[in-house]
Amino acid sequence: MVALISRILIFVLGIWFLRRLFLSLGAPPKPGAQRGAAKPSNAMVRDPVCGMYMDPRLALRLEEGKGTFFFCSEECKGKFLAGVRAGAHFP
Ligand SMILES: [Zn+2]
Repeated sequence: MVALISRILIFVLGIWFLRRLFLSLGAPPKPGAQRGAAKPSNAMVRDPVCGMYMDPRLALRLEEGKGTFFFCSEECKGKFLAGVRAGAHFP
């Protein structure tokens, strides 16, 4: 009887684990999801790390808790993320 219950538990846990795995794989970040609500494309965005202005369509995008940030390169994005983790504040 105990063996049966533990088998059912393992089965349920397995289903739950597979479901979590499936949900995490099934919801990848969608870069073009907000295309319909996009602002006019002539607005330039500023890289908060190096201060460079660029077209948001060409920039690397990062959705953070406080808003959306744009970066000219993976390097700047990495620096920004490192700064956020260290508690630094960018304008
Ligand atoms: Zn940059």
